[in-house]
Amino acid sequence: MLDSTKDLKICIIGAGMGGLTAALATAREGFTNIHVFETASNLGFVGAGIQLAPNMARVLDRLGVWASIEKEAVVLRNTSIRDGASDSEHGFVDLGYIKETYHYAHMVGHRASLAGALYEGCQYEKAITFHFSTSVEAVTSYDPKPEFTAVPRQGEPFTVQCDVLLASDGVKSKARIAMLEALNVKTSVKDTNQAAYRIMLTRDQIQDDPELLELIDGERVIRWIGAKRHIIAYPISNKQIYNISTMQPDTNFAAAPSETYTTKGSKSAMLEVFGDFCPKIQRMLNLVPEGEVCEWKLRVHEPLPTWIHGSMALLGDACHPTLPHLAQGAAQAIEDAAVLGVVLGKITDTKHETINKALKVYEEVRKDRAEKMIEMAAASGRALHLGDGAAKEERDRQFKEAKENGGAVPDKWADADVQKMIYGFDCQEIAARTFDERFKTSSVL
Ligand SMILES: Cc1cc2nc3c(=O)[nH]c(=O)nc-3n(C[C@H](O)[C@H](O)[C@H](O)COP(=O)(O)OP(=O)(O)OC[C@H]3O[C@@H](n4cnc5c(N)ncnc54)[C@H](O)[C@@H]3O)c2cc1C
Repeated sequence: MLDSTKDLKICIIGAGMGGLTAALATAREGFTNIHVFETASNLGFVGAGIQLAPNMARVLDRLGVWASIEKEAVVLRNTSIRDGASDSEHGFVDLGYIKETYHYAHMVGHRASLAGALYEGCQYEKAITFHFSTSVEAVTSYDPKPEFTAVPRQGEPFTVQCDVLLASDGVKSKARIAMLEALNVKTSVKDTNQAAYRIMLTRDQIQDDPELLELIDGERVIRWIGAKRHIIAYPISNKQIYNISTMQPDTNFAAAPSETYTTKGSKSAMLEVFGDFCPKIQRMLNLVPEGEVCEWKLRVHEPLPTWIHGSMALLGDACHPTLPHLAQGAAQAIEDAAVLGVVLGKITDTKHETINKALKVYEEVRKDRAEKMIEMAAASGRALHLGDGAAKEERDRQFKEAKENGGAVPDKWADADVQKMIYGFDCQEIAARTFDERFKTSSVL
């Protein structure tokens, strides 16, 4: 018998953005027995930039890890949306109002800084034990106590039983597949036919190019757009790195086995994809050393009928992978984890029915919101990637109108109404309120 709800054993699959935040959020709620299982031998995050939107910063601040991330991050003052070929400006949006409105500026940083701060926060918590080099291969029970097989890289597989299982094992989630099989639901990963090159140029690499130095010293996100492709770029790491992420039709992965999500790309292929973009971009892409072109496949899947089963919940990319056009994938995984912290922290008995009911509150608060973001990110991508024609003319007219007189911005990420919906949502406050409402009447389902 457990003495208290805080002694519930919580197991977390995956030490990515969602898993690390879930560990920290539950530890901060006073849980004493938290285990994180991670396939990798350490937190070897792919070096790349990440947008640190106010809704993410709010959660990280409450968890006590924002200050160190903020120290290295760069504040975005504005965003410029430009034509890839001519470099002429379609749209411009001032982002200065964001800090006054949402209390946190819109910032950009290095993924390693975000993950490092979360991991450091976890290390202060005695309640959290990490099991690196250990994969979770099979979830065999969900109720009353979840059970799974953990497979260490060296050593024998072992069975783990817990009270709550949180599966944040990313877009290729085995826990999602197992859960859907148990529920007899068929869904599959959807090909977006899009891929991304991710590039980081150091200040040293561009020091002889005044135009590129101007970019790294700017406090601005720039999108260069063209038919079926675009590039987004911003400075990170105290303006020591210029981070560039591209989106283009997926040709390289199309022929590859379906497990492949990242690959070393060919530099000449990359240069060809953006061959008609302006000279400034050509110079940036040419600075990528041969053999260091990294390409990612972008995948999503159909919305799932549910994110929970018994005492297990999926979170992050495991249940809502998204295209990166709204820059909200990690932010939404972090919101999931924060909400899980709130609802589990509020339960007052250790019955599995109560845990399941708390997880239902999590799903209620999070699922519609995350799925709206997925749709919006896809819609934004379609608008940004238009080829010549009436739709593109209308889009460009809207960019011009928004630049001159304000109004809706076709790049949803930069649209004030969309920002209000994303940044103005205090997920923890809403989770606490929803929990209280659902648990008010009785503790029975
Ligand atoms: C090009 C691109 C740009 C992006 N830009 C942004 C951005 O600017 N802002 C933003 O918010 N998001 C962005 N994202 C999205 C963001 O990276 C993801 O949404 C986020 O990392 C998801 O976090 P997660 O914890 O769910 O999964 P992940 O970070 O993928 O973590 C999953 C973890 O689980 C581990 N794992 C997997 N299987 C197992 C297993 N069986 N057992 C144990 N461990 C396992 C993995 O090793 C990994 O560590 C971008 C994505 C892409 C592709």
